Amino acid sequence: MEKKYFDREIETLSRKKLEALQLERLRWQITRCYRNSDFYREKLDRASITPSDIKSLRDLVRIPFVTKEELRDEQRLHPPFGRYLVASADCIRELHPSSGTTGTPVNNLWGEEDVKSITHWTARTLWSIGARPGFIIQNGLSYGLWVAGLSVHYAARALGCFVIPIGASMTERQIEYLLNPGSDMFLSTPSFAVHISEKIREQGINPSDLKVRLGLFGGEPGAGATGTRKKIEEGLGIKAHDYYGLAEIGPTFAAECDRQAGIHWAEDYVLVEVIDPETKQPCEPGTPGVLVFTHLAKEVAPMIRYWSNDVASLDKEPCSCGRTHARSPAGVIGRADDLIIFKGAKFYPLQVEKVVRSLAEISDEFRIELTADGQTGMDMVTVVVEVAEKGKESGSLKATLKNRLREEILVTPAIRFEPYGKLERTMFKAKRVVDLRPQKGT
Ligand SMILES: [Zn+2]
Repeated sequence: MEKKYFDREIETLSRKKLEALQLERLRWQITRCYRNSDFYREKLDRASITPSDIKSLRDLVRIPFVTKEELRDEQRLHPPFGRYLVASADCIRELHPSSGTTGTPVNNLWGEEDVKSITHWTARTLWSIGARPGFIIQNGLSYGLWVAGLSVHYAARALGCFVIPIGASMTERQIEYLLNPGSDMFLSTPSFAVHISEKIREQGINPSDLKVRLGLFGGEPGAGATGTRKKIEEGLGIKAHDYYGLAEIGPTFAAECDRQAGIHWAEDYVLVEVIDPETKQPCEPGTPGVLVFTHLAKEVAPMIRYWSNDVASLDKEPCSCGRTHARSPAGVIGRADDLIIFKGAKFYPLQVEKVVRSLAEISDEFRIELTADGQTGMDMVTVVVEVAEKGKESGSLKATLKNRLREEILVTPAIRFEPYGKLERTMFKAKRVVDLRPQKGT
């Protein structure tokens, strides 16, 4: 009989046993951080905590968060890697910086054991969505300074698969490889997958003629949102799965299983908390908050309570697949910074994406423009969309879009149509929000 789980014991561990394992690993990690890192020792001393104070998982809330700003300062004041390098320098094997879209990138380090960890959990993820030995895996995730590209490469090889290491470029070649030799699984950002789908349609290729049946998409939210998932699934003729990773914590450490019922966290490697951004206390189960991560097994430069700024909710009930590791049912909803507040309503760009991609008459690309009214100074929100390839702008289409947006985000932004192809396409992470408001104080 075919093996259902990659690692049955750990993936189906009871909540009680999983939490006992987490506590054991947490205490080990905090003890070595306190002993070997001036950064962590000073942090714990300031909060009047010693490692022996951590007697249960609940005690973790006493430890202050680590922010990206703090890591940047550490690396600037104590170059090149800051004082949170817990293992000796000869353990370092790889450097994977944060993407650095804002500010100086943080240098994240991976040791030999860490490379084994990312390989193991990524292999487990690929298996959970259906990858099997002998599969042709087309890796459209970037290899250059983005840890997800390499972790998928290592994991695919560990599973006995055949990898096409194309990376996040060359749309035409991507399509050629999907046709010949005919990949079984495709991975990329959701934006790139949507872009490839558009090209496939333009070239008159029937998705059912492609051999590919499975996909894993991440690096930005979207693959878990119904509209985008549908676009990718129909455009490529596959079953699309969402994954999440973060440079400071690791690649692909949360991903949907074959049930597509939310991303499962690799809870044996990373402890996940959901924190209310206002009170800084844990959220009630099911309530969205900021994800805070603690490395339970990382050897080099571990993070203790890293404030990700990414927003999701957490469900600890076992999944129908039989796995017990907690899930975030709608994936990661967005960045806490991307939260748009307009006329008293709060929403994330992903909610707009969900609406835009549910309408066949408009294309998959969109922008959210934030401006200020010239007279009143009030914030204005405009959703910029393109008519679909062969479609045309109409009053009823605008009205439908307005209604759907109001249902989803509870307010009605302005809408502007652009011709098909006017908005820039991306192979990496899409920038959906354009803030054109005058900067405060200028
Ligand atoms: Zn599952």
